[in-house]
Amino acid sequence: MLNTINADLSELAKFERIAHRWWDKSGEFKPLHDMNPLRANYIDQAASVAEKRLLDVGCGGGILSEAMAQRGASVTGIDMGEGPLEVARLHALESGLGINYQHVSAEEFAQDHSAQFEVVTCMEMLEHVPDPASVVQACAQLLCPGGQVFFSTLNRTPKAYALAVLGAEYVLRLLPKGTHDYQKFIRPSELASWCRAAGLELQDVCGITYNPLIKRFRLSPKDVDVNYIVRCYKPL
Ligand code: SAH
Repeated sequence: MLNTINADLSELAKFERIAHRWWDKSGEFKPLHDMNPLRANYIDQAASVAEKRLLDVGCGGGILSEAMAQRGASVTGIDMGEGPLEVARLHALESGLGINYQHVSAEEFAQDHSAQFEVVTCMEMLEHVPDPASVVQACAQLLCPGGQVFFSTLNRTPKAYALAVLGAEYVLRLLPKGTHDYQKFIRPSELASWCRAAGLELQDVCGITYNPLIKRFRLSPKDVDVNYIVRCYKPL
């Protein structure tokens, strides 16, 4: 057991409060629903998830976990929020998907599941934890040699502040105020250095951009100013 858990209770509480609306595609989680096909395709193209053991860290209500299970992956989802996990379990039943959801931190899970997963995903979660480098380290440990891990988060740029905080929380009122703490946003260079420190090789960094005119997300390899995915490989 770890003495200290790498979780911020006030962050977890934010997700508990709105967990029941996780699968409402026009509610607070609309942005995750809207970007889900893009990130699911990106992951599947790089890692061919069918028949692979995949761990989704900070899975929440299971939006990505389900997309991965639908593509044939054998999915385990972990999260420190009870409410989101309850929603995830019920929704997987409704969808007829067998997903193993567990209430455990990445660090604790890594202690007895070292090198057990061929793919690890950790989406939109690092910006909510006190020590993101420790989660990156745990993800690396959970990954089999030769496996790939995918992180996505928000960049710490004025543009991300304008769009993800002011735009989404205050102007569009898409997200509850206080959902995101700008100070916790992560620059790609910071995430890359935590990945290297964990023994991972950086393979790709790809932006996810939003066009407010047509209300669409798309993958933008050259624009990582706001939201982005990092793909890493664990050497054999
Ligand atoms: N990865 C999902 C959900 C993102 S929302 C998706 O992209 O669709 C962020 C999730 O991180 C919430 O479910 C929240 O409960 C979880 N979370 C926050 N802090 C955490 C921590 N310290 N350990 C594990 N999960 C955490």
